[in-house]
Amino acid sequence: MIDGERFLEHPIRWGMVGGGRGSQIGYIHRSSALRDQNFELVAGAFDIDPERGRDFGIKCNVDPARCYPDYKTMFAEEAKRPDGIQAVSIATPNFTHYEIAKAALEAGLHVYCEKPMCFWTKDAEELERLAKEKNRVMFVSYGYCGHQMIEQARRMVENGDLGKIRIVNMQFAHGAHNVAVEKKSASTAWRVNPKKAGPAYVLGDVGTHMVYLQEAILPHMNIKRLMCSKQTFVEGRPLEDNAMTIMEYDNGAIGYIWSSCVNAGSEFGARFRIVGEKASIAWDVEHPNQLHYEVQGKPQCTMQRAASYLYDTAKRDDRIGGGHPEGLFESWSNLYTKFAHAIDKCEKGEPIDFWYPDVHAGVLGVKWVDKCVESANHDSKWVEF
Ligand code: NAD
Repeated sequence: MIDGERFLEHPIRWGMVGGGRGSQIGYIHRSSALRDQNFELVAGAFDIDPERGRDFGIKCNVDPARCYPDYKTMFAEEAKRPDGIQAVSIATPNFTHYEIAKAALEAGLHVYCEKPMCFWTKDAEELERLAKEKNRVMFVSYGYCGHQMIEQARRMVENGDLGKIRIVNMQFAHGAHNVAVEKKSASTAWRVNPKKAGPAYVLGDVGTHMVYLQEAILPHMNIKRLMCSKQTFVEGRPLEDNAMTIMEYDNGAIGYIWSSCVNAGSEFGARFRIVGEKASIAWDVEHPNQLHYEVQGKPQCTMQRAASYLYDTAKRDDRIGGGHPEGLFESWSNLYTKFAHAIDKCEKGEPIDFWYPDVHAGVLGVKWVDKCVESANHDSKWVEF
């Protein structure tokens, strides 16, 4: 049970790059990091527009002297202070992640980076190498994996409740960009621009979330090879707005991820079904408090968050008791709590003995996008992973 008591002697001094006024994802970073008092927001370069960023930071109670015009100035100035930041979250468009994350690690900061971690596998591997060399914690912001039912799913697979896994069927297919909304929305415009979004749109933007959920629930399974077909349905988009990927795993299982933003009529469309030899589980991001468990030959069952029959580790992050809905803010808060624990352990030289979306998960997501694009650009041929 989490009840908001901080477990650290002093909150971690934390800064943000991006996530400024009007951004899609800035507020959930702040509200989740600050909720359990393990972090204190003391600095930021919140916006590409320095004045707007400064005004925003002041209104988030950050000392005006520590509202910086850009991340380079922030890292340099904070390093001079005895009470400088120890960790930073990066909530900027994709094309900036690599350079900001690299600079942050080089400045000795722990990093919480938005997904996809960067554009290219070699850059992702460089960040992984750097995080290891500097002995810093690097989280990648796969925000759905902090839901309690994802922990339950992981434990069910681990304990053999499903039997050997045969099929992994996933989708993140919303309909919000079924027309050219990018003409009016700045937040969508960069997502369909290869200079700012990278080699892919929906594969990186939504597909990577499912890649990590698969990794979180099925850590014993590795993708062996994949094939991908991608399409651009909305005229004028230089990147794909729909993609279908089939994956073969090293245990003989087969998997499928549908990534889309043109699934007209679908509000969010992020869900999975994992099929084992004796039972299946199914989960939907829009109904995160329930996990469906279907054993062949028995009545179908809907497991509820915080219920007594869940595995202990799935009850650990409960904040309100059963019967009450928890949601994305709680999932992210659980992840920021893990981030604080990981930093604490890292600083004390102790091993980090729990799973979280680490820098290697970031590499996996970037590599998956790279391989999907490679396959799709070669007539959807199978490519080794
Ligand atoms: P956005 O365009 O809505 O906001 C981006 C913010 O970053 C703005 O405040 C902008 O001024 C600021 N910014 C841009 N460049 C900057 C720079 N160089 N220095 C400082 N600030 C800068 O974008 P968004 O939708 O919030 O997405 C941001 C990131 O979050 C993306 O990588 C996206 O993929 C990711 N994202 C993740 C999730 C998730 O569930 N984890 C959800 C949505 C977005």
